[in-house]
Amino acid sequence: MTRPQVVVIGSGAGGAAFAWALADAGVQVQILEAGPRYDPLKDYLLASNGWEQQGFPAKVPIAGRQTHAPLQLLENRWADLRSWNHLTGHSLASDRRSFLAYNHVIGVGGTTLHFTGESHRMHPLAMQMQSRFDVAADWPFDYAELEPFYVEAERLIGVAGPSDPGVRTRSAPYPLPAHNLSYASQKLGKGCRKLGLSWTANPVASLSRAYDGRPPCNYCGNCTRGCPRLDKGTADLTFIAKALATGNCTITTGAYVLRLLAGSNDRVKAVVYGSTRRQHRVEADYFAVACGAVETPRLLLNSSPAGSSDGLANESGLVGRNFMETLFWASAGLHPEPLGSHRGLPSDAICWDYNAPDAIPGVVGGCRFSPSTAEADLIGPINYARRVVGGWGRSHKTSMREQFGRMLAVGGIGENLPDERSFIDLDPNEKDAFDLPKARIHSHLAATEIERLDFIAKTCRRILAAAGVKKVIEEYGSYDAFNATHVFGTCRMGTEAKTSVVDSSCRSHRWRNLLVTDASVFPSSGGGESPALTISAIALRAARKLLHSI
Ligand SMILES: Cc1cc2nc3c(=O)[nH]c(=O)nc-3n(C[C@H](O)[C@H](O)[C@H](O)COP(=O)(O)OP(=O)(O)OC[C@H]3O[C@@H](n4cnc5c(N)ncnc54)[C@H](O)[C@@H]3O)c2cc1C
Ligand code: SF4
Repeated sequence: MTRPQVVVIGSGAGGAAFAWALADAGVQVQILEAGPRYDPLKDYLLASNGWEQQGFPAKVPIAGRQTHAPLQLLENRWADLRSWNHLTGHSLASDRRSFLAYNHVIGVGGTTLHFTGESHRMHPLAMQMQSRFDVAADWPFDYAELEPFYVEAERLIGVAGPSDPGVRTRSAPYPLPAHNLSYASQKLGKGCRKLGLSWTANPVASLSRAYDGRPPCNYCGNCTRGCPRLDKGTADLTFIAKALATGNCTITTGAYVLRLLAGSNDRVKAVVYGSTRRQHRVEADYFAVACGAVETPRLLLNSSPAGSSDGLANESGLVGRNFMETLFWASAGLHPEPLGSHRGLPSDAICWDYNAPDAIPGVVGGCRFSPSTAEADLIGPINYARRVVGGWGRSHKTSMREQFGRMLAVGGIGENLPDERSFIDLDPNEKDAFDLPKARIHSHLAATEIERLDFIAKTCRRILAAAGVKKVIEEYGSYDAFNATHVFGTCRMGTEAKTSVVDSSCRSHRWRNLLVTDASVFPSSGGGESPALTISAIALRAARKLLHSI
């Protein structure tokens, strides 16, 4: 390709969808992706001996790319929210919250390669948190405006979901029928019903039937290790493959974008990316940054126009602010019956009953619950040996035979409201291989967040007990650990230039040929909805709006 019309930086849930929508409309797109491609058949080695220990086989290390400021001190009154295991005690010894990881993937398809595949639409009220509940910020459009783009994203990804839409009204059914629930998930469902709670099929990007040239799921349960079967609708297999097939899109891998270069007339003129040997410059008419909610603000802050040190598109001062993370909790225990819980689709069911922003008594912001045995990594013998069974020799073997497949875990994820103490800035001391400051993560859980987490933890325990688990043996959550999988908010979209970074079409209020098309634009996090589908829907909408200008 010669000079592209649009450069897209990053190929995750947002960048990939945005690139596809433009390429499909005939626009010449170049994607610059810092990481490599993954070959599901060669890279996701679930049939190898070491499958359980390898986790997601990241080709570019995830740890160490960002730094973090000291996290908050833990309080005795929330001792019940410490992570623990019945064999080893407290999982984290520190009296401060510990930084474990910002779990993102550098590669074609971004973090969707690692994701579980939950494909949620936002609760309509969770997009109006300021006007209705006096917290966070309103989205600059409503659910009805985003709905057609949800339909399109679900069709392109291949989402399997239930026929009853609940409050998330739909103009078309899911492209695929919901998966049947695993036996273990049905047990949790019985527990929920005893408590008067609902338990329905979770919409997921794992195929329940062959679709679009890909086979159906085989229920191996290893989605977060990378799906070797190709049925999980990751961005590389869906949006990127389709974008490349148009002939209008190219992707440059190993292209780590270092900075955007501001030109005259409030327009960005080029990007500079580094590869192993040298730096390259690419000019285009439009630039979309989609590096995820931590690396996108970093790139903008590292791209100050001449004469400024505030970063690019930061006229509001909000680039990096309003950082929201994953507020989560999981409780796990041994069930008296053999459940075969080491197999089955992770998170195949969901309880939405507390998802509305006003559903949790006394705290604004919702949450939801789903099975989390696979996400807790309790599906293989090594984790059973280390975390469940304990002991040595013959008694260990006997217990292992008795207990394997009986672990039952339920997890909850909740709203995380923006807080002025949670933000991303540039680390003044630590730099990367290109001598650029790393992103520094500041995270603080306010009292309201901990109260919401406390409700989530107590409800997980109630669900497990009602499902027949007599003794909880392990729990973990975000009270004592930053271990974020969903991150948002650091380039908020909104109607006012003073209070947001981009407008409702994801374009910078000032730099009109600059867009942000990833999770950074979320004005609020939602009540535990997994974000990838919404990120893609927002990106599709932004691309369609941009077509009016191209
Ligand atoms: C274990 C796990 C489970 C999850 N489960 C779910 C789930 O079930 N459902 C769900 O909806 N979400 C889930 N998520 C979250 C979801 O994957 C992310 O929210 C989503 O992928 C974020 O999309 P994004 O476009 O904002 O960023 P990403 O998908 O992270 O994409 C960012 C891209 O930018 C590239 N990049 C970064 N910096 C640069 C640079 N300087 N130059 C060039 N390229 C760059 C990266 O390589 C990457 O390709 C999960 C996440 C994890 C870790
Ligand atoms: S459970 Fe299904 S989607 Fe997940 S890795 Fe296995 S085959 Fe793929």
